[in-house]
Amino acid sequence: MSNSTKFIFVAGGVMSGIGKGVTTASIGRILKNYGFRVSAVKIDPYLNVDAGTMNPIEHGEVFVTSDGVECDQDIGNYERFLDQEIPRENYLTSGLIYKTVIEQERNLEFEGKCVEIIPHIPSEVMRRLDQAAHKSQADFLLVEIGGTVGEYQNLIFLETARILRIQRPKHVLFLLVSYVPIPEMIGEMKTKPTQHAVRLLNSAGLQPDIIIARSKQAIDAPRKRKIALFCNVSEEDVISAPDIASIYEVPSNFEKDKLDEKILKKFNIKKPNKKDSSFHFLVKKIRKVLDKDVKKVRIGVIGKYFETGDFILADSYISVIEAVRQAAFSLGIKPEIDWLNAEKYEKNSRELNELKKYHGVIVPGGFGSRGVEGKILAINFIRKNKIPFLGLCYGLQLAVVEFARNMCDLKGAHTSEVEPKTKFPVIDTMPEQLVNMREKKMGGSMRLGAYQCRIKQGTLARRIYKTSFIQERHRHRYELNNYFRDALEEKGLIISGINQERNLAEIIELKNHPFFIAVQFHPEFQSRPLNPHPLFKALIQKAALFSK
Ligand code: GLN
Repeated sequence: MSNSTKFIFVAGGVMSGIGKGVTTASIGRILKNYGFRVSAVKIDPYLNVDAGTMNPIEHGEVFVTSDGVECDQDIGNYERFLDQEIPRENYLTSGLIYKTVIEQERNLEFEGKCVEIIPHIPSEVMRRLDQAAHKSQADFLLVEIGGTVGEYQNLIFLETARILRIQRPKHVLFLLVSYVPIPEMIGEMKTKPTQHAVRLLNSAGLQPDIIIARSKQAIDAPRKRKIALFCNVSEEDVISAPDIASIYEVPSNFEKDKLDEKILKKFNIKKPNKKDSSFHFLVKKIRKVLDKDVKKVRIGVIGKYFETGDFILADSYISVIEAVRQAAFSLGIKPEIDWLNAEKYEKNSRELNELKKYHGVIVPGGFGSRGVEGKILAINFIRKNKIPFLGLCYGLQLAVVEFARNMCDLKGAHTSEVEPKTKFPVIDTMPEQLVNMREKKMGGSMRLGAYQCRIKQGTLARRIYKTSFIQERHRHRYELNNYFRDALEEKGLIISGINQERNLAEIIELKNHPFFIAVQFHPEFQSRPLNPHPLFKALIQKAALFSK
């Protein structure tokens, strides 16, 4: 156990989607700026053992850590803001916790005791929090509790925070991220929902030390006073968190309100003199791109996990979007990203002409058959019209299918994921996956996490990466079928990256195309604002040549 670790719990009030993850990551960042060791944990209240079995429309993107956990997209926020890897210990769900406790009970580990939700579930949560603190040797461990206060689902995690606070009073701080609406018909900022959220928290035995008030605009003095009075905090502990143009400005906004100093003071820690300012420079650079009339590129992302009812959901591809934005910002270019629903190309092939508007197109990861033929048609159009292209995971697989069908004369070629009986399974199931699928072991069983890839000399991939060995993160069951390698290569498909251990094709590219590259892995998971990914940078650089 890491006795000195300070725990900062972050819970959300009023409603979901107010940026709790970015808030947590940003608090981590402002503490890391002082040179403290910081790490962050996400606790999700659902019964899924991990996020891997959930549809992105339900849940948003499934992020993958380098040690192979399929987790919530907030872990991606932590990695991007903290510029460090988050290990598997830092992702907890109710499912994982209950599963562990029940397995212990089956193994007689409770020695005849009655096993109960309280105290056994919070104890297991605490054991795991200590494990995470110990592994990262963190000075500060941020613990984000998923969901909203008042829900039945996350009560047990609030209970954990409550107990921890009693046991280690000097080591625990509790923050509430709340929402302060400005209803259009009233035109005034209303604090009542926040007051209710704090009451709910109080009924769980918790009092927030600091309230972060998310709103369209900065919280004014009268509202700060009101929140302070009704929510039992001092005015200076109400932190204003207005909407801003770029999420990477959130840390400096918090610093403006002296949140870093307040946290340190509450823990009785002296503020260090030295401060890392790399994030400040980044923010300045982004501001310049956003505010000035700089070069623009239009990037199309062809997917299917966009629509929920009448609304568009960009969360499903958050790491891809962030990777594009980070790459563009670092090059001083303004990115314009459009969502293109693959299914419209199946319905009307004339729609494909819209792809000519884009300076670069990405086909990201995906599963199942919906929209697949549309993506294949789009890739065909992109290949023929020489539009810069980056394929990610399913994007690589469908690029291979397109090439096999139209260049290698393998009519009906497909991935066995969509067409198990195809004559030409150019993308096929990995052998160990056949066993998993037969035995219905589908959770956490894909090829997951970081693997090594060797890049061939003289290829576009090598020019981009400027090195011969890379590590990238994976999440797939299918892969390029080596039986068809010769046929594909003969017609101009280049396999430029290989996992040597298992002889798996990891990167493909095309001869006679200005920029056509696809990867079996997910580079977007390793792109960081302070360190944008070379593949995305290369795409934007190429796209910029096509944009006037
Ligand atoms: N569905 C494909 C597979 O399982 C691709 C997965 C992905 O894009 N992440 O191999």
